[in-house]
Amino acid sequence: MSTNPARRNAIESIASQPRLQSTFDFRNEKIDLIYGQNVFSLEKMEKRLPKDIFKALKNCIESGAKLDSAAADVVASAIKDWALECGATHYAHVFHPLTGSTAEKHDTFFEPHGTGTLAQFSGKALIQAEPDASSFPNGGLRSTFEARGYTAWDVTSPAYIFDGENGSTLCIPTAFVSWKGEALDKKTPLLRSMHALNKAAHRVLELFGKKAGFISASCGPEQEYFLIDSRLFYLRPDLYTCGRSLFGAKPAKGQEFEDQYFGTIPDRVLACMMETERECFKLGIPIKTRHNEVAPAQYEVAPIFESANVAHDHQMMTMTLLKRVAAKHGFVCLLAEKPFAGVNGSGKHVNWSLGGAGVGNLLEPGSAPHENAQFLAFCSAVIRAVDLHQGLLRASVASAGNDHRLGANEAPPAIISIYLGDMLNEVIEQVKKSGSASSSRKGGTMTLGVDTLPVLPKDAGDRNRTSPFAFTGNKFEFRAVGSSFSVAGPLTVLNTIMADSLDKLADDLAAEIKAEKGNFNAALQTVLKNILTKHGRIIFNGNGYSEEWHKEAAKRGLKNLRTTPDALPEIVAKSTIEVFERQNVLSKEELVSREEIYTHSYVLTINTESKLVSDIGRTLLLPAALKYAADLTPVADSKSGGKLRKEVISLADDLASALDSLDKLRSESKDDSHGNARHACDKILPAMLKVRAAADTLEEVVADEYWPLPSYQELLFLR
Ligand code: ADP
Ligand code: MG
Repeated sequence: MSTNPARRNAIESIASQPRLQSTFDFRNEKIDLIYGQNVFSLEKMEKRLPKDIFKALKNCIESGAKLDSAAADVVASAIKDWALECGATHYAHVFHPLTGSTAEKHDTFFEPHGTGTLAQFSGKALIQAEPDASSFPNGGLRSTFEARGYTAWDVTSPAYIFDGENGSTLCIPTAFVSWKGEALDKKTPLLRSMHALNKAAHRVLELFGKKAGFISASCGPEQEYFLIDSRLFYLRPDLYTCGRSLFGAKPAKGQEFEDQYFGTIPDRVLACMMETERECFKLGIPIKTRHNEVAPAQYEVAPIFESANVAHDHQMMTMTLLKRVAAKHGFVCLLAEKPFAGVNGSGKHVNWSLGGAGVGNLLEPGSAPHENAQFLAFCSAVIRAVDLHQGLLRASVASAGNDHRLGANEAPPAIISIYLGDMLNEVIEQVKKSGSASSSRKGGTMTLGVDTLPVLPKDAGDRNRTSPFAFTGNKFEFRAVGSSFSVAGPLTVLNTIMADSLDKLADDLAAEIKAEKGNFNAALQTVLKNILTKHGRIIFNGNGYSEEWHKEAAKRGLKNLRTTPDALPEIVAKSTIEVFERQNVLSKEELVSREEIYTHSYVLTINTESKLVSDIGRTLLLPAALKYAADLTPVADSKSGGKLRKEVISLADDLASALDSLDKLRSESKDDSHGNARHACDKILPAMLKVRAAADTLEEVVADEYWPLPSYQELLFLR
């Protein structure tokens, strides 16, 4: 028990808290009735809309076409009736600006009518709105005189009702674009990339003689997070300002017992999880899994995968709900990548695949030889895409927060590589060797269309946790994504580079079929062999944390972009601009604006954090240490008192001089944002760490009573 008064109060309050009276009990509820109750689903649309309008809308949903304004009026009126029946009073266009967060502007349905009021909601209000968006980052895409952008309903994602504490809001998922049509958000490029992927996948499938419906990217994001008691959280200005701790000595007990992972979920946490899941169910978010994670106070939630754009919306809602419900339970949900030094950080594994009606999951190995050839074609396209655009993939997960996690022996390294597993790797090796003289089956040549793929283990026990991009039986798992990220960025990159790779494969295959006079299997064999020979270097099945891998990767010419300032320029690399323009996903201007915004955001984050390090160091920690030293003066004559006083003073001096160095560096400003980003990364961050090291040493020496910040022990273990 701490003897510091503020900390003592918080701890006493946690220790004596009454059990939360839950407002519901799953045992008394029918989940199938709750499930999707707040979503204006296809079924509800069909019930409430005239047949022809429903058909038109369904067509828009399937093809991504625009809804005409007459139909929009009818749809709007039906949505309004439903929303009012559900008790909604307001509606909001929800969009996802480049800050990576969720933005919404609420309007009430109710407008003056005669002497009273009437609920109004037009087709125009449904399909388009014009938020005053001038203060969202646009990276120079809009000059201020035309700062307007508009939000447009993404018909592929259903409207839903968000229940607040004392009222409900109809939410309309939208894309956010400038009047010139430039994407100002994360959703627009995601949708564009899905169309590009569909188109390219169809080209390849056609060569395989396959007919398919819309080929959609799928995504199942696993979300890691921390739950911290709010009473302690609010005693830490670093946590409530930056979402991560900037100080904190290593606790006596950390995660080394490994008794947390998959351990019993504490009652208070479980109640919070259940309520979050219930809110998710109401919104049709298919939450499936919950468990304790490796670090103390760390947990994970994962849904069943869905079409990438819907998964994106649901993931954003899940993050919002995690925070909201946690607050109700007296917790704070930390989504930052590395809230605590010395224990594991949080990631968001983005499981990704593609498929559609008629062909199923295209990354699922089949049992018939012919299907295997198709699987290998799509798999090779992934390998080519990831190899060619490894830097871009790294950039898609770059942020100040994620830099503390990547490559830190708990998360994938900053070097992008692909893990295939031994079985699939052997097959790939065989395909690569085709044409060579080897005859033995094992380690020899594999003839596509004849040989059967060995059965690949679906849920391999030997899953390599150190790989940033791993094949896991029927999908790839992109593990380098940070816990606070929107999945839209990584998904947009994956879809776009995959679409381009499939286009190239279709071109090459068509040409080779001609050259081989119609022999499809021989043509495919040649094309895949070429791809794998050229891009096989990206495959690595070993330990990604090892020193040898870093050396080996360098030998192979793979990029090792350690930090965000190293990675972000990849967004405007020639290869990136070419692939994004070719696939009509983002123009050069749109890419340039993004690189600018993300660089600026990196600088802002570190500026904020370093100012806070300085403030906390100077106004909380240094005074605490000096006060303690002063209070030791009466016992300075004693052996222990004198020694201790001396030690504290010396450490306080270290802290003071580290603070001086930090503040000097903080006052320097470079010419442009790239210079500032480098300065933040190379100079300010190390100076922050020096301050921290001095402070953390003091924390272990200064009497507990004097130390104002809750300790790691308290933060991570009290609930
Ligand atoms: P693990 O923690 O072992 O990686 P989980 O079961 O927690 O596995 O998460 C796996 C995620 O992958 C789930 O969200 C699951 O729905 C998703 N997934 C499964 N198949 C696909 C697919 N074809 N496309 C995208 N995601 C998928
Ligand atoms: Mg996983």
